[in-house]
Amino acid sequence: MKFALTILGVNAATPAFGRFPTSQVLQVHNQFFLLDCGEGAQMRMSDFDIPRHKIQQIFISHLHGDHVFGLPGLLFSFDLNGRQLPLDIYSPAGLRDMVLAQLRPGTSLSFPLRFHEVDTIHPSLVFENEIVRVEAVPLKHGIPTVGYIFREKPRPLNIRSEKIEEYRLTIPQIKAAKAGEPVLLENGELLENQELTLPPTPLRSYAFLTDTLADDSVIPFIKGVNLLYFDTTFCEDHAENAAFTMHSTARQAAEIAKKAGVGQLICGHYSSRYRELDVFLEEAGEVFEKVVLGEEGESYQIV
Ligand SMILES: [Zn+2]
Ligand SMILES: [Zn+2]
Repeated sequence: MKFALTILGVNAATPAFGRFPTSQVLQVHNQFFLLDCGEGAQMRMSDFDIPRHKIQQIFISHLHGDHVFGLPGLLFSFDLNGRQLPLDIYSPAGLRDMVLAQLRPGTSLSFPLRFHEVDTIHPSLVFENEIVRVEAVPLKHGIPTVGYIFREKPRPLNIRSEKIEEYRLTIPQIKAAKAGEPVLLENGELLENQELTLPPTPLRSYAFLTDTLADDSVIPFIKGVNLLYFDTTFCEDHAENAAFTMHSTARQAAEIAKKAGVGQLICGHYSSRYRELDVFLEEAGEVFEKVVLGEEGESYQIV
């Protein structure tokens, strides 16, 4: 079962050096979730073979243009393609008016479009289905901004096929074992669940925290996540600028990742001041060695 992040755009503010503004797709099993939708996001989806028609939920961190200007084009394409599947967009307040103003007055889309306002003051559960939970946590930026944390939900246990034959298990017994229960055989023998099932696979998680000051208040929410994408707009040569614009440096992001004990840090939201990105990796790597550069088209998988 797949759990993979594909980065569509990794630049801050404006496109530069072939890099697009922020957008990403997280695939959890066979579902696709869009995170932010900077200009050109749908073109990037074509470039990287993302089945955009399968996206049913979009999560927007905040309303700065480099995170939302791709939405009108994407919605227009969905409508032209006769999409029928509902689309739910989660974001801080104000996105609905901003997006609908871009569509022709009186336009009725071919599909139900629903906007959901996310609390930007308190952490909250914003979405949950059979495979994943999505939490929003407040970030510290110039306008109301949230980060999103995706957590895979427990799956039924896998049963050892040889045990089905050995004990001639019935369907209700197999169901009980998959639910983690012990199984009572007809002869009165009680089988512990561990005997019948494979060890549960670890649950995977991803945190998307872009456009924020590096502030320790987020650490409890991202403790131990497998993958963390964190704002690294600047390097130390522009640390003052990072504080002034309410962004982070690569070193600061690495300090957060280290304190939170995450599995891997992905750098991103690079300022257009930087053509070369190696310095981000160097500065973050001095603090936290499990760091990689966020790159467009790259897929970051958790197995
Ligand atoms: Zn931004
Ligand atoms: Zn911003």
